[in-house]
Amino acid sequence: MSLEGKLLIGQQAVSGERAEIRAINPASGEALEPVYRGGGEAEVARACELAEAAFASYRETSLEDRATFLETIAAEIEAVSDDLTQRGMAETGLPQARLEGERGRTCGQLRLFAAVVRAGEWLDVRHDPALPERAPMPRADLRQRHIALGPVAVFGASNFPLAFSVAGGDTASALAAGCPVVVKGHSAHPGTSELVGRAIQRAVAKCGLPEGVFSLLFGSGREIGQALVSDPRIQAVGFTGSRSGGTALMQTAQSRPQPIPVYAEMSSINPVFLLPEALKARGEALGTAFVGSLNMGAGQFCTNPGLVLGVKGEALDAFVKAAGEAVTASGAQTMLTPGIHAAYADGLGALAGNAKVREIARGQTGDGPHQCQTGLFVASAADFLADEALQAEVFGATSLVIECADLAEMQRVAAGLEGQLTATLQLDDGDLEAAKGLLPTLERKAGRILANGWPTGVEVCHAMVHGGPYPATSDSRTTSVGSAAIHRFLRPVCYQDLPAGLLPEALQDGNPLGVSRLVDGKREG
Ligand code: NAP
Repeated sequence: MSLEGKLLIGQQAVSGERAEIRAINPASGEALEPVYRGGGEAEVARACELAEAAFASYRETSLEDRATFLETIAAEIEAVSDDLTQRGMAETGLPQARLEGERGRTCGQLRLFAAVVRAGEWLDVRHDPALPERAPMPRADLRQRHIALGPVAVFGASNFPLAFSVAGGDTASALAAGCPVVVKGHSAHPGTSELVGRAIQRAVAKCGLPEGVFSLLFGSGREIGQALVSDPRIQAVGFTGSRSGGTALMQTAQSRPQPIPVYAEMSSINPVFLLPEALKARGEALGTAFVGSLNMGAGQFCTNPGLVLGVKGEALDAFVKAAGEAVTASGAQTMLTPGIHAAYADGLGALAGNAKVREIARGQTGDGPHQCQTGLFVASAADFLADEALQAEVFGATSLVIECADLAEMQRVAAGLEGQLTATLQLDDGDLEAAKGLLPTLERKAGRILANGWPTGVEVCHAMVHGGPYPATSDSRTTSVGSAAIHRFLRPVCYQDLPAGLLPEALQDGNPLGVSRLVDGKREG
């Protein structure tokens, strides 16, 4: 594996001139080679200039050519599998199986979007034929299709070095939509990012696409991240990270002369509602299974179950006892970065130091640096409702159980929650009425509602919604996982009375692309 420590701007590898970025192996604290010198405004401007130059032809690539490009990226990533796993493990402390699984998901996503592009449903072709005889006013010939927004800025996530990073879901969906992408790589895993970035560069060259379709920048978020979102050529932003980072980018995007959409996925505590009959029937088993979900990836998942609600009593006590035992037996795990570990330690300390919160159990501490010690705490619903700080995401394997006096109080807690990616119901047949009461509230709070499962593990498919009201995301109308994510980077254009020779292929009579169309309100194909 040869890493050069350079920014990838179009087909070039360029040395930055700003502050050094060195990946740190979180399991050992060792600084890894090579050094990446950050880029500045000049590199942002160059990448955006190339992206804008590439846009006109890239957005008009045929469905087949664009799908082939996405598949070629997947193949190029698979060609460097071993290097990616090795470097990914060194930069993130994640185990081999996780990185291999993530690579499979990343390539699977790219191939899913290739299939979506070929099917052409995303074009959302509509045709209302002219009605020249209509009285009192004739109707014009109206045709609609969706087109790509323009160059997109993508911020790679720290917690998914492959599936939500350089060639992750945001990049795949933006490229599928026909948008060139400029990635701001996460500073925690620059080597993994470079390997993937070079795989995309090779795919661009092999497919004969304009070089500006893809660039990868490294550097400080506050400098190049802000410059990227401010650049007038950038037309949308994809982000996964902290609430403060995402909110800062939303503000920058809104204060541009031309505001643009920001799709930021930020913070969620993913409440789990233990309904009374389920809790009575299997409280202990639920307690153990819940800790399995809590500990996945050292809790560094956006869907980590950080809040559990039940009605106070023996059944909830049995759940807490079993969960506490599983927490005590939980081994420590290496966290992704020193910064994330420090933030986790602060969050854990804040819960432990809160006079209204009772500590139930802590997991093992571990020997190495940056170890995540699992934590479990309990508070009353009244105290939770009175203290906003208890809703803050603690990014890592810690959860808070809320004791509610009754179902009505559980409902009040649900109503007081911030926006969430997920809400989970543990229920038996006898809980259906209680669940029906909660459902309308949960629909207003969360992007995905689950029954008798755990929120970690997000299927990449057509029906998935990985989104939700703020602060889960900046825009609750969409998803960042699954094929519907393509719609974030598209907009509709209506063509009224255009002569046949001017119509784009997707809208021509005879449907030369063979895509599904809504003709005069009726679905065809
Ligand atoms: P982060 O600090 O928000 O950083 C994410 C990316 O955004 C980085 O590339 C960063 O650049 C950039 N950035 C941050 N603030 C910015 C600003 N004001 N302007 C422009 N760019 C900015 O997130 P993180 O490093 O992944 O982790 C920190 C915390 O985020 C975690 O402790 C956790 O609380 C939260 N997090 C949540 C989720 C979730 O899905 N809920 C996922 C990951 C992280 P730099 O390279 O300069 O840092």
